[in-house]
Amino acid sequence: MLVVQKYGGSSVADPERIRRVAGRVAAVREEGHDIAVVVSAMGDTTDDLISLVKEITDSPSDREMDMLLSTGEQVSIALLAMAIRERGFPVISLTGPQAGIATDGVHTKARILNIDTSRLRKEFSQGNIVVVAGFQGIDQESSDITTLGRGGSDTTAVALAAALQADLCEIYTDVDGVYTTDPRIVPEARKLNVISYEEMLELANLGAAVLHPRAVEMAMNYKMPLHVRSSFNTNPGTLVKEEENLEKELLVTGVACDHNVAKIGLFNVMDKPGIAFTIFKALADEKINVDMIIQSAMRDERNDISFTCSEGDLKKALAVVDGLQADIGADGYTYSDSVAKVSIVGAGMISNPGVAAKMFEALYGAGINLEMISTSEIRISCVIRDEDAEKAVKALHKIFDLA
Ligand code: ADP
Ligand code: ASP
Ligand code: MG
Repeated sequence: MLVVQKYGGSSVADPERIRRVAGRVAAVREEGHDIAVVVSAMGDTTDDLISLVKEITDSPSDREMDMLLSTGEQVSIALLAMAIRERGFPVISLTGPQAGIATDGVHTKARILNIDTSRLRKEFSQGNIVVVAGFQGIDQESSDITTLGRGGSDTTAVALAAALQADLCEIYTDVDGVYTTDPRIVPEARKLNVISYEEMLELANLGAAVLHPRAVEMAMNYKMPLHVRSSFNTNPGTLVKEEENLEKELLVTGVACDHNVAKIGLFNVMDKPGIAFTIFKALADEKINVDMIIQSAMRDERNDISFTCSEGDLKKALAVVDGLQADIGADGYTYSDSVAKVSIVGAGMISNPGVAAKMFEALYGAGINLEMISTSEIRISCVIRDEDAEKAVKALHKIFDLA
């Protein structure tokens, strides 16, 4: 059997934990399986590196950010490989580039284009356990190191599992699995035994940090089941896989919250063909991912257009909007990064009217104002004030009986 395991930052936060992970890896090896282990940087290393940057500059280049942040994982792979060797097992650590992970050149949020598995296969054939640095790859055009976005080690693991056609892909973290909402916010949250790719993808995209959205997308595309579980115990976790029973008994499977949201509103833009294209093409050219877009009803041949992006992209987005104002005839714009997005997700929502009303009832009951609303077949999201986010998650978890 070929097994891919991924251990997140908290699972390798200190030498004792690294030794424990080495023990788990060794146990798989002892059963005679090949194993590739993907690890994140130790504990809060990535955050600490970002704090260091803030002491140097407000506007670091994305390339240098990748150069810096990719060092965190290089520390943990070497230490884990040493800990595995201490147990008497042959092992080698590889950076993302050494493991053949090729990405595009979009620094700080690169996408994996291809994995050349020849080095990994060679190491397996020589009897080595392979420890791979998560979250990084190489842009082959420039030969520069890239990173996959925060939380991207999950994606490294799933991409490797797919490329190696692994029999098992386990994501080890600091909670027992995927819960109905973040158990740190709502302690009564319930662990889900199974969740479909579609629901997990929505939750991940909407801020449930337990899995990186690209990892879920890739697992879905390659039909690779994921087992999300705790590295601190041996409890069964959550299986992320294809939906089996079409009749969903639950209207809502989970509640997610994303604080990393900024909102920009453009006032009184001209109401004529090509305006939206002009705005969103310019944002796309700057590689800004726009999420919700809302255009108000037309009055006097004028519209308001608002959209959200990540807080990290706000500065770039404002520069774009500033440059466009005259072209689109806007009177001005506002922005805020003290907003959050709360969402409910559930495949059972499609065929059940009244879910949105119930969501709004819960938020109204908690005295929360809705600034933007968007929906898909299996999701409803609301942008609200950041300071209301926790209250909103609790109210939604309660009204949909998720505990
Ligand atoms: P790792 O370092 O292992 O990748 P993360 O911090 O990235 O760990 O992800 C695990 C965390 O995700 C949990 O500690 C939990 O607070 C958070 N989380 C958010 N939403 C959920 C959810 N629906 N289910 C489980 N954990 C969640
Ligand atoms: N170390 C990176 C981060 O903190 C990647 C990861 O943990 O998945 O975002
Ligand atoms: Mg993570």
